[in-house]
Amino acid sequence: PRPMEVLVKALEETAQARKQVKPKDAVVHWFKMDLRHTDNRSLALANAKAKEAGVPLICMYIVSPQDFEAHLTSPVRVDFMLRTLSVLKQDLAALDIPLYVETVHKRKHVPQRVFELLEEWGSNHLFANIEYEVDELRREAQMIRHFAANNKSYEVVHDTCIVPPGELHTGSGKQYAVYTPWYRAWMAHIHENLDLLELFDRPERNPNGVRTKFQKLFDCSIPDAPENKRLSDAEKKTLRPLWPCGEHEAMARLEKYCDEAIGDYHNKRNIPGDDGTSRLSVHLASGTISSRTCVRTARDRNKTKKLDGGHQGIQTWISEIAWRDFYKHVLVHWPYVCMNKPFKPEYSNIQWSYDRDHFAAWCEGRTGYPIVDAAMRQLNHMGYMHNRCRMIVASFLSKDLLIDWRMGERYFMEHLIDGDFASNNGGWGFSASVGVDPQPYFRIFNPLLQSEKFDPNGDYIRKWVPELAGLSNKEIHDPYNRGAGTKAKKQGYPKQIVEHRGARERALSAYKEGIESG
Ligand code: FAD
Repeated sequence: PRPMEVLVKALEETAQARKQVKPKDAVVHWFKMDLRHTDNRSLALANAKAKEAGVPLICMYIVSPQDFEAHLTSPVRVDFMLRTLSVLKQDLAALDIPLYVETVHKRKHVPQRVFELLEEWGSNHLFANIEYEVDELRREAQMIRHFAANNKSYEVVHDTCIVPPGELHTGSGKQYAVYTPWYRAWMAHIHENLDLLELFDRPERNPNGVRTKFQKLFDCSIPDAPENKRLSDAEKKTLRPLWPCGEHEAMARLEKYCDEAIGDYHNKRNIPGDDGTSRLSVHLASGTISSRTCVRTARDRNKTKKLDGGHQGIQTWISEIAWRDFYKHVLVHWPYVCMNKPFKPEYSNIQWSYDRDHFAAWCEGRTGYPIVDAAMRQLNHMGYMHNRCRMIVASFLSKDLLIDWRMGERYFMEHLIDGDFASNNGGWGFSASVGVDPQPYFRIFNPLLQSEKFDPNGDYIRKWVPELAGLSNKEIHDPYNRGAGTKAKKQGYPKQIVEHRGARERALSAYKEGIESG
């Protein structure tokens, strides 16, 4: 059975036992990738339970270094989350709600430690939002059963997707493997169930006396990042101002984006030199804003008050948020994508190259293809890359260099501030043509044409590859073949490490052979 089915079964089989559990001294919400107190389903449910029982609400967050390792969480992402916890702690303290944060070094000890904390606080009720990765679903299922067997209730609920995974089916009852029909079904489902866009209130103030009883929890400090995930002082200085954290920042960014820029999203979203996208991905990935709030806010600005029709920019933006839901639905239905396997098994036999020099040149932005190098340097410098460029560099790695796409997928997770397993795996699967609803393998991006089309004046390249800044708009996309070789060489810019036309032929044969032998 799929991990999600195991979880649902655990919930069903313990339903009666959980219902009978009586609240004691507190109700607990466990924050994970939902670092906000506004519009948070589990937190709202925990708050309602606490109010009904007349007991305080306690919040907790477990810092798990092994989970950071397992998920390849980047240092810039860890820093963002820990900074966000400070904001959240303050917001909750203003409502007399403690946020207790503890580091648990071994991930296998997390369930037991959570149980012990509930015992310590005299709580019988724990709430959390579901995370859809395989290990997390399995752990939750075990915890639900363990809690129920010990007269405690652990409730986990859907929150991160607008339409919970498992709700949408094709006419023959299957999970959609193609985005466009899935998206139509997604919109229709929301239009028929408008409560999916109802936002949850933030929790109410805790009853008097909570500070006397739980002062220790209010006083706890936010731990430092584990040593191997810590930013240097210099990195903190450059990265922190680029990525202001916390839910107020996320909400302000959303409002400003909807007021000033969403209208032009459909025209500008593919131009990396232009700030035409929302830059909300880090907030969606860390849960400092919910996708529900994003879609609801954008939809309310559309004169049709629907997800489709009306304003083109708003419609297109909502359809991009939907991709995020789509990839999570895929992960839940085909969990083997979590296990280093291509979605399409017939693509398992491609003979990839493991050329270290080529991979290093790609990682460091030294391939001799300015658009690729600009993109990789943007990633290395700020922990973020524009979507169009993510597709260009992923295609370049897997097709022009024929390097195993999983090496690129991993490098992205280790460096992105918005690293999210489902979206990253989906994006790599799409670009390397091995995923769900992929680009056909014989459609291979030409990096020079992509560069000319989406960065026509070289603005993006000039920003990230400053040694080429003095070149003309024509030269900048391909200096050595457009008469600017001497200038490029003088500036230390490398020649192309592969020639695109030959590399394309090599990729076509390798894919063909791989599929035929698969
Ligand atoms: P906007 O254009 O403003 O879009 C709004 C939101 O919609 C985004 O914040 C994001 O949550 C969602 N979204 C937009 N496009 C996509 C998409 N193609 N797939 C899934 N969600 C989307 N996105 C991540 O959040 N984390 C990742 O680890 C990630 N890895 C990627 C890897 C590859 C190879 C590719 C091609 C795409 C990847 N994406 C990933 C999707 C996309 O590139 C980013 O979400 C987007 O660039 C974030 O910028 P933004 O917030 O300004 O997006």
